Amino acid sequence: MAETIFAKIIRKEIPANIVFENDTVLAFKDINPQAPVHILIIPKTTEIESARDLKSENHSKLLGDLFDVANEVAKKMGVFESGFRLVLNSGADSGQEVPHIHLHLLGGRKLTWPPG
Ligand code: AMP
Repeated sequence: MAETIFAKIIRKEIPANIVFENDTVLAFKDINPQAPVHILIIPKTTEIESARDLKSENHSKLLGDLFDVANEVAKKMGVFESGFRLVLNSGADSGQEVPHIHLHLLGGRKLTWPPG
């Protein structure tokens, strides 16, 4: 599997603006924010490239952890009550650039629908 920039962020080899970390999940500010709040939430394991690799029998605990962290980060960033969007790009047509599964947490403004 190719090394990604997120693996380097997990190992603290390159800097990131980390807003939450525990044993399994890391959350940090997106370097190119698309909303006033734009956080990336990633598992620390590097084996899952996209949602297409998920299997409930292998990853249900990790998925629960990611969504727990999303709610915690939304509260910390002040958008839990106002609302926020979680985006999980998967593959070329979605615009996924980094092959390390990640949730985008977007908020702090009224988000439009449909997405581009
Ligand atoms: P995606 O297009 O879903 O793969 O999202 C990848 C995201 O990673 C983009 O929103 C980028 O702005 C973001 N990104 C890339 N490099 C970094 C970095 N070094 N620190 C923080 N965010 C990054």
